Amino acid sequence: MREPAVLTTLGGVRTVTGSRFLVEVGDRRVLVDAGLFQGLKDLRERNWDPFAVSPRTIDAIVITHAHLDHCGYLPRLVNAGFRGPVFVTYDTGKLMSVVLPDSGRLQEEEARFANRAGYSRHRPALALYTEDDAWTALDRLRPVHFDEDLEIVPGVRARYEVAGHILGSSSVRMTLGNVPGEEVTVTFSGDLGRQEHPLLRPPAPIGDTDWIVIESTYGDREHASDDTVDRLAELIDRTVGRGGKVIIPAFAVDRTEVLLYHLHQLSEQGRLPAVPIFVDSPMALAALSVYRDAIDGHAVDVRDDLHGDGTLFELPDLDEVLDAEGSKAVSRMSGPAIIIAGSGMASGGRVVHHLEKFLPDPANSVALVGFQAAGTRGRSLMDGADSVKIHGRYVPVRAEVCDLSGFSVHADGSELIDWLGTATREPSGVFVVHGEERASLALRTRIMDELGWNAVVPTDGERLDLHIARPARPTRRNASVAVSPISTPGDEGGEDAGMPMTIEDARARLTVADHAVLSTLDPDRGVHAVPVCFALVGDHVVVPVDRVKPKSSTALRRVDNLDADPRATLLADHWDRHDWRQLWWVRADLARVDDADVDISLRTALTQALRDRYVQYRTAEFAALVVFDIVSVSGWAATS
Ligand SMILES: [Zn+2]
Repeated sequence: MREPAVLTTLGGVRTVTGSRFLVEVGDRRVLVDAGLFQGLKDLRERNWDPFAVSPRTIDAIVITHAHLDHCGYLPRLVNAGFRGPVFVTYDTGKLMSVVLPDSGRLQEEEARFANRAGYSRHRPALALYTEDDAWTALDRLRPVHFDEDLEIVPGVRARYEVAGHILGSSSVRMTLGNVPGEEVTVTFSGDLGRQEHPLLRPPAPIGDTDWIVIESTYGDREHASDDTVDRLAELIDRTVGRGGKVIIPAFAVDRTEVLLYHLHQLSEQGRLPAVPIFVDSPMALAALSVYRDAIDGHAVDVRDDLHGDGTLFELPDLDEVLDAEGSKAVSRMSGPAIIIAGSGMASGGRVVHHLEKFLPDPANSVALVGFQAAGTRGRSLMDGADSVKIHGRYVPVRAEVCDLSGFSVHADGSELIDWLGTATREPSGVFVVHGEERASLALRTRIMDELGWNAVVPTDGERLDLHIARPARPTRRNASVAVSPISTPGDEGGEDAGMPMTIEDARARLTVADHAVLSTLDPDRGVHAVPVCFALVGDHVVVPVDRVKPKSSTALRRVDNLDADPRATLLADHWDRHDWRQLWWVRADLARVDDADVDISLRTALTQALRDRYVQYRTAEFAALVVFDIVSVSGWAATS
């Protein structure tokens, strides 16, 4: 018998940080990514909340890559009692050994600063975790190779595939269940790189999978064509010509390495003026050595043509700034220079004091080369702020600010769609995560329009059932539950819309998946999509109604009164796109069969059939079963 499998989003939905996805198979629990919330204060505060499930009950953790928004919460989980293995690729493990202790150090510094300055919600202010905690957490790492299947807990296998986002980064395909032929596969994209990352191989194809969880950082954007390096070269020329400094806030891991690679190329081509280049970040320098080792050591995810090339990052005027005194000296230096420093979104780190010093002078420039999350100084600069707040005072922005997000290590909307296109078949559904809401919704729309697949942007804390429609097993003749795959969006047809139909016609038409991903309407949040279980039972369609999402009559009226609803645009958008499943659901609710019409023995049979079939999907929380007459439901589907 198949075991229940549920995915719960515990972060990293409708935001780009705090990636945490809990996979439960029977009584086993695996957490995919343990990311820190970053950016806006409300989000950061969530790092202090107790974790949604006791960390002791998590059997294993799978980390996709070494960025803090995917691994930075790990020490906190270990502090709170997590005792299982943490599976990582070798280079992810090495890079985590660079970033986690640094993160702990930073947390301690912030706590000390908060105590001195007297602000904090804790008295005395505490560090979320310390550098020591980070080292303790790192003891739990279990490095694995790319492209190998391994059982991480009984009945859960994982395979790490190249994601090409940063060194060691992976997509993870998990196979759940241990009965051959009855497993369910779910593929987590992790963060996806681009086709033309200068150092790394592009993301591996998806292949065969039942469910896909995909990031959408740039789901609503297309990167400018590849003139980014030229624009960087021009910016350096302009700035040096004015006698100014180019400040580049850069993530220590990958951004700095890619920048040095490009500067090396420009230098080889004679396009780089002879000015000092400072890498003012001990963490970036440590990460650089991990990259060098990987290239020397022929790491699987490094581009074939670079293997063994020791000169990639060589620059004649490179200065590695290790200590804080050196950093201050760089700030005091006159004359043109290029300064690369963290953090990448200028929310902390040494780049902040460089910005404080250099932003007010129009001779200088700032190159923004990575994603800038809402609430960070980098985002303010990108949005054209006149001033930014640094160390409690507003610093005027007179320096030139240049958006070079073409350097992004994230795939853009089209690249994400292309990656999905590498799946060898249509999955049961796609969950769109790891993006600001607008980006995730935009990608979801593209997936539905361009691929014709079910796609959902889950809400925070949502439980998503990972079971799939299988070809109906031979059960009793005239079985009380018969399930076949859902019709595709193209099937709703129009030629016989609204025509009277027989029960047999209706049954043929209304082939209902057991876990169609349906959009529903939530009175508080507008259009909201959740997977909803259905069963076709005799001449009836049965839908379990979730207690937390009752379909109230107010919600229904909104559909019939599009113009009057403040969210009409969103609704109209769905309408235009013939997202009939949403309308069907809503309409079905409008005209459901009166309970009195369903005799009690049938009702009992329906209840039992659903409970048997959907034991995994919040069964205990079902508020009610709603029974629809098959002909009327099909009719609505046809006319919507
Ligand atoms: Zn990342």
